[in-house]
Amino acid sequence: MLKKVLIANRGEIALRILRACKEMGIPTVAVHSKVDRDLMHVRLADESVCIGGNNPTESYLNVPAIISAAEVTNAEGIHPGYGFLAENADFAEKVEKSGFTFIGPSADVIRLMGNKVSAIQAMAKTGVPTVPGSDGPITNNQDKTRAIASVIGYPVIIKAASGGGGRGMRVVNHASELLQAIALTQNEAKTVFGDKTVYLEKFLTTPRHVEVQILADSHGNVIHLGDRDCSLQRRHQKVIEEAPAPNIDEEARQKVFKACVQACKDIGYQGAGTFEFLYQNGKFYFIEMNTRIQVEHPVTEMITGINIVKEQIRIASGLPLSVTQEQVSFKGHAFECRINAEDPNTFIPCPGLVKQFHAPGGLGVRVDSHLYSGYRVPPNYDSLIAKLICHSEDRNSALNRMLNALDEIVVDGIKSNIPLHRELVRNEGFRNVDFNIHYLEKIISKK
Ligand code: ADP
Repeated sequence: MLKKVLIANRGEIALRILRACKEMGIPTVAVHSKVDRDLMHVRLADESVCIGGNNPTESYLNVPAIISAAEVTNAEGIHPGYGFLAENADFAEKVEKSGFTFIGPSADVIRLMGNKVSAIQAMAKTGVPTVPGSDGPITNNQDKTRAIASVIGYPVIIKAASGGGGRGMRVVNHASELLQAIALTQNEAKTVFGDKTVYLEKFLTTPRHVEVQILADSHGNVIHLGDRDCSLQRRHQKVIEEAPAPNIDEEARQKVFKACVQACKDIGYQGAGTFEFLYQNGKFYFIEMNTRIQVEHPVTEMITGINIVKEQIRIASGLPLSVTQEQVSFKGHAFECRINAEDPNTFIPCPGLVKQFHAPGGLGVRVDSHLYSGYRVPPNYDSLIAKLICHSEDRNSALNRMLNALDEIVVDGIKSNIPLHRELVRNEGFRNVDFNIHYLEKIISKK
């Protein structure tokens, strides 16, 4: 087992990783920016190192500072969490070259899946169903591009190969807009991601977002932990997630699970990972793979009882998975509400002093949060302040439990999107599984 783990992240996920390490008896090192010295996990870690200024480039994205911190504290493994450097292949490579263990897949696999074009090509090769599209980057041959789009049929979506975080995407409804939309997306992609490569795929009009969690160790064992539905999104960012994904065609589901497991074997995947799909009319279409722990992993933990972060650490330590596929069983239903420090109507971030924080409780209620009364949410990072997770025997009772928890939770002093969650959990279309990825935006636009 790894002897000491450095947590190269902040906020709730840093605390989540720290908790897993503590349970496993592994000493921890917290690295943090100046403003983050009062973070909960910094207080709880065995050692902590201030690695730089508040701007992420000075600290959480500062590779030499993170590696130096690992050196001075004699850490063995580095857990990147999500965001920041979690899907940065160069970082994974530098970590390994400096003699540490990166808790995640190899740099080569991160690179392969980090580029959406190569990811889609790799998936198509192993038999994972993909969205009809350009099967590669868009070239300068405009006639060819026009022809591809008209064969696929409008609307189409232009996407940045190196895109992420819901950015670098543009929907095109008519052939007359195609070339200009491509040029605009290429420019944006170059500015934001430093890579102007874009590709094109069919824009599905009423899909749900359904994803598959997998775990793969260094002994060739690959298992899936079922699926999650993350269709409630605003600006392509998830707001509520649930597991299992409700009302899915069972045959299609089992087929996609099998394909994901096989794909991991084919590409030599190691670690926790998620295959993201759009699901429409009983069919799955692969859109991308996340080669890291995801924000919404707790809903899967609640229905399987498997601690995904602990499995990541076991895998990185060279140990086999603690369970086989046959030992994985799915029990009940779980939801996660992402609580953000933002205005519930305008969505403008609202950092500041949390005067009072009260976490809800009771059977099947889990709160993953770094908040405490008196904590000041800094303006420098993303606005996620808590994840409220509720588990119960079925979808309806889990929703009722979430309603209670949302009524109990108190975050005083700053604005949050709790009022929006209270509304969504009561929403009839959501309760009846009558939604797709556009549903939340429609609710918001009617307000
Ligand atoms: P990112 O890496 O930025 O998260 P994704 O490729 O995962 O981007 O897509 C994010 C979201 O954008 C999806 O969950 C879905 O809502 C929407 N989306 C992406 N591709 C398509 C498509 N082909 N048709 C319709 N919606 C799409």
